[in-house]
Amino acid sequence: MKVTIIGAGIGGLTTAALMAAKGHEVTVFEKNECVGGKMNQVTESGFTFDTGPSLLTLPHLLEQVFEVCGADINDYIQLKKLTPICRYWYPDGTRFDSYDDLPITQEEIRKIAPEDEQAYLSFLAYSKNLYDKTADAFIYNPLYDLKDLKELDLISFFGIDAFSTVHKRIDQFFKSDYLRQFFKRFTTYNGSSPYQAPATLNVIPHVELTLGGYYVDGGMYTIARSLFTLAKKLGAQFHFNKKIDRIHVEKGKARSVISGNATYQSDIVVANSDATETIVYMMEPGKVSTAKKRKTAAIEPSCSGFVLLLGLDTSYSELKHHNIFFSNDYRLEFQQIFDEKTMPEDPTIYIANTSFSNAEHAPEGGSNLFILINAPYLSEQVNWDTEKDVYRKKIIRLLEDKGLSGLSSHIKFQKVITPRDFYDLYASNKGSIYGTSSNDKFSAFVRPRNKSRQFDNLYFVGGSTHPGGGIPLVIQSAFNAVKLIDRYE
Ligand SMILES: Cc1cc2nc3c(=O)[nH]c(=O)nc-3n(C[C@H](O)[C@H](O)[C@H](O)COP(=O)(O)OP(=O)(O)OC[C@H]3O[C@@H](n4cnc5c(N)ncnc54)[C@H](O)[C@@H]3O)c2cc1C
Repeated sequence: MKVTIIGAGIGGLTTAALMAAKGHEVTVFEKNECVGGKMNQVTESGFTFDTGPSLLTLPHLLEQVFEVCGADINDYIQLKKLTPICRYWYPDGTRFDSYDDLPITQEEIRKIAPEDEQAYLSFLAYSKNLYDKTADAFIYNPLYDLKDLKELDLISFFGIDAFSTVHKRIDQFFKSDYLRQFFKRFTTYNGSSPYQAPATLNVIPHVELTLGGYYVDGGMYTIARSLFTLAKKLGAQFHFNKKIDRIHVEKGKARSVISGNATYQSDIVVANSDATETIVYMMEPGKVSTAKKRKTAAIEPSCSGFVLLLGLDTSYSELKHHNIFFSNDYRLEFQQIFDEKTMPEDPTIYIANTSFSNAEHAPEGGSNLFILINAPYLSEQVNWDTEKDVYRKKIIRLLEDKGLSGLSSHIKFQKVITPRDFYDLYASNKGSIYGTSSNDKFSAFVRPRNKSRQFDNLYFVGGSTHPGGGIPLVIQSAFNAVKLIDRYE
């Protein structure tokens, strides 16, 4: 079959490899000049930065892609466990390092929250229980037709804690404000708010703290590059700087994709482009009802991000690979991002310092800081033309106050990526960086499925589709799409 894939993000690349491995004629059209989508890289003045994901969880899914394609992941990617996984700084100067080694983490807990040592263990057991109950039903399941939905019969919404919020459940478990803030942070992994998202998302700590958080030697972009090499080896064709403007449909089927004056016929179309953007703007005019477009546009995007890349001529010995500087008032921070849709006045600041693990990512003696602040998705509340520089200066000042003394005098290279840039670069709905949010207990059911219900041979993969954002789930969306293609085509 002729398979056309729109977009070479992780979802598109994975689908390309999986479909090419099955012997299909695969063509990928990417609007940018390189693969990876939001998993991107900047190399400048001797510094190398990953500009998207910095942490890989559930690596077995990535391993499975190579295995199914008859390849060995070790020939492409060296996964690295980080010790500690992450260093946390609290506003009062307290520090906490998290590990996936339980006895070591327990020692850390005894230092900052001895009253919660037992609660930490109970919470991890609760988080594992959530994973056991939800993974097969919600993640590794296309949730497309009755056959798939049957698996949900076994699930009670009470059993997966969907009626509480992340924040309420965590406050019940822990007395320590340090641990409360630490555990609430995981909800941001898919761009949601701990004050709104169902407590089911408390599954994420199990995924990182027990199953493990990984880095890829050489940088996360190695994943995109490796999937590209794999797909090409299997025969997939790639066209770059080729934006698809339209999906042409006839008699309930996607017949071709159109880029400028060129039309490319296809038996199957897989959209890795953002599902909302695809349904609302790319389908042939008149073929998708206004009601459907309205419903799709109403799905809440995940948050976006404000990214600051700093190339320094020094390195700060107190920084590990992953670092978090927490804000004073977490609730206010999320209220500003998700309700008021403004940049947080006192943000939590995440820093990936990959030169800690890959010295070649900065000139000798220097370091490369990828700084990420959770930001609201695009709305009229923030004008990025004016806000960009104001916020950049604010973050540098805040980091100096929090202990990175003299930071501004060590900057040799800097670049800002705003939510507006995320929209312009990757055409993601309102600049969202994880696809759709999980701020509602029904989010899992609202997210677009991996196969269109209206057009027989149109499939969707990526963070804006089921099962959600983040590298592992995006890979799973490709597995789901291929499973549905096998089932229906
Ligand atoms: C700053 C940041 C930090 C993150 N941190 C993490 C993390 O630590 N761990 C993690 O697991 N995840 C993280 N994520 C999320 C993760 O990067 C995404 O979920 C994942 O990479 C998205 O892949 P995707 O396939 O959905 O789509 P995308 O990466 O959005 O790719 C879609 C591709 O389609 C192309 N495209 C769009 N429209 C068209 C068109 N009309 N024609 C042709 N091409 C088109 C785009 O250019 C793009 O290349 C982060 C993301 C960002 C931005």
